[in-house]
Amino acid sequence: MSETDPNRRMRIARQHVQTDQLLGIASVPQGEAAAPPPLDETAEPAPAPAAAAPTDSTTASTEPSGAVPTGSPWSAAPELDRAARQQLLEQMDRDEVSCCTKCPLSEGRTRTVFGEGDPDARIMFIGEGPGQNEDEQGRPFVGRAGELLNKQIAAMGLEREQVFIANVVKCRPPNNRAPTPAEVDACEPYLRRQIQGIRPDAIITLGGPATKLILDTKLGITRLRGTWATYDGLLPTGPQVPVMPTFHPAYLLRSYTEDNRRRVWSDLQQVMERLGMK
Ligand code: SF4
Repeated sequence: MSETDPNRRMRIARQHVQTDQLLGIASVPQGEAAAPPPLDETAEPAPAPAAAAPTDSTTASTEPSGAVPTGSPWSAAPELDRAARQQLLEQMDRDEVSCCTKCPLSEGRTRTVFGEGDPDARIMFIGEGPGQNEDEQGRPFVGRAGELLNKQIAAMGLEREQVFIANVVKCRPPNNRAPTPAEVDACEPYLRRQIQGIRPDAIITLGGPATKLILDTKLGITRLRGTWATYDGLLPTGPQVPVMPTFHPAYLLRSYTEDNRRRVWSDLQQVMERLGMK
């Protein structure tokens, strides 16, 4: 379809109006994404756990130590159909995650929060860990932050069921503290297999802790958001996955300024552009 097609222009205009209404944004200035804002990085809502092997790089380690082993059913997951991959995910949740005691977070949880969504999702959102609402319901992003995330997903022209939403750790840290590096390390293989199975076209990391784990970096979210990076955790047998870091919805709720809303929307628009959704 031509760029000058009037129907397409109308559709784009309508989408802009809808997203502006949803996100409370008057307009998104051109070039916003290319100029990360000079925000205080310590303003993130939760302190960040150190990544397993932190470096100053914005890309993950290529060490194959945690890679999905060849011969595992997960190594063939990308070739499986949706139903088979859904089955693999459900099996991991039922047989491993729901009864996991690999780290001390198992002691205080009400329910594990495996994650949910389409096993064929093109976009995977990854946050830090469950909060109180998530712990009670066993579902990710169901509180106020979840409502805002739902609006963001809708503004992208998607249903929540069309993406996959997960966290770095599957059990709630007590008093909403940040998970320790050991807890993150213990839980990371589950997330890696989720990414392996879903094989999204893009990952959107929500907030500093998730971004630091996925990108194996010490840099703060204010420096990283709005700039494409890659998740290399599937190497050497799998592909790199593009990653767009953005602010956590909980942070956005606490700092609900027009500038921050624009920044997040700009990040999401970059993903839409890359995936041909605009
Ligand atoms: S946080 Fe992860 S590793 Fe720790 S007990 Fe829960 S599922 Fe297991």
